[in-house]
Amino acid sequence: MRKTVKSNKKPSGNQQDPIFYVFTLIPAEPPERAIRLRRQIMAIYSYCLLWAGTIIGVELSAFAPDTPHLAIFSVLFAINLVFFLLIRSGLSERLGDPSLTILQMATGIILTTVILHYTRELRGAMLSIYFMVMTFGIFALDRRRQMAMAGFTLFCFTALQVYEWQETPQQAIFSFLIGHWIILALILCWFIYMGGYIHNLQNRVRDQRENLRDAHSRLEAIAVRDDLTGLYNRRHFLERLEEELSLANRNHTPLYLAIIDLDHFKQVNDNYGHHSGDEVLSRFARIASQSLRKSDLLARYGGEEFVVLFPHASEVASEAALERLRSQFSDQNYEFAPELHTTFSAGLTAFQEGETADQLTKRADAALYEAKSRGRDRIAKLP
Ligand code: GH3
Ligand code: MG
Ligand code: MG
Repeated sequence: MRKTVKSNKKPSGNQQDPIFYVFTLIPAEPPERAIRLRRQIMAIYSYCLLWAGTIIGVELSAFAPDTPHLAIFSVLFAINLVFFLLIRSGLSERLGDPSLTILQMATGIILTTVILHYTRELRGAMLSIYFMVMTFGIFALDRRRQMAMAGFTLFCFTALQVYEWQETPQQAIFSFLIGHWIILALILCWFIYMGGYIHNLQNRVRDQRENLRDAHSRLEAIAVRDDLTGLYNRRHFLERLEEELSLANRNHTPLYLAIIDLDHFKQVNDNYGHHSGDEVLSRFARIASQSLRKSDLLARYGGEEFVVLFPHASEVASEAALERLRSQFSDQNYEFAPELHTTFSAGLTAFQEGETADQLTKRADAALYEAKSRGRDRIAKLP
């Protein structure tokens, strides 16, 4: 996988500039917080519409003329501003519910109840504001919490009706009170049923998306790794080699390439079996991964051949790293064959500016050939 493909995130302005970040209403990062803030703006927008509706309602005498809409909505906006700041600052993430859904819905339900108190003939129609509030919980709350919010809605509405009945029993028509209550209760039941269904559906989609993401990263690993040793495979190495060569060309930085071939490996297979041969290959991979630096690119080139690319390294450092690895490998003991002594030969060469990957690997191969012909268990260099 190419590096450039991996880092496909665009650097956003607000990440680079802290001042810009402070004054951005909805910063892009972290994305979950951005979603919550957008949802919060949606809630404020809904309340603006509701305020406009209330003002029109008062003008048309559908609401009581003394409806304190300015006071009600000022309180509502102040509370929503606090919610916005809690989410924007990240403080809400320390709470169990980072979207503050339950608090937001409870505020909405209480204020809706207050507004309903001032409605006249419109009471039946205005019950729908409760459902607007309930809609906010559908995606965020499970069925149990949705039931709790529905119960709270019914409690607030019942309290309002009892209060009104006690205050002005002559104005309240009992059948209307009961009728409104039953309609509200039935629609809330429907909300719990549908809300729970949608919530479960959403969870299932989220699970599927996570499974897909896992499968994708597993596939990505399989595509670049060798099965037996877990090292990078030849294809990935060749891709990275091209990238490193163009970097070295552009920045005029040194680069060394080594090809390593295990000595008389066929005999390991012949004498101890293929499975033991596999053990030796895995052992080499493990000690090489531990012994080399993170910045060195180690890969299985094929069979019992491995490659190491040393970017930004000197000849002395690359050779020392190979020597260290050679001595560690020849010190290995194997449980399945205590008398087995494994060694490798390596060819090391420096990248010369302007040359191709093919020219570079051919020279490293020639150096390896020299190490083999000089008696194996050694490192040969070609400039
Ligand atoms: P030299 O010192 O000249 O490199 O001799 P060698 O025996 O190591 O070289 P040769 O090319 O003759 O043999 C390489 C052997 O590596 C042959 C092949 O069966 C074995 N081999 C290649 N891949 C694997 C593998 O994945 N597992 C095992 N067990 N053996 C492998
Ligand atoms: Mg070989
Ligand atoms: Mg060999």
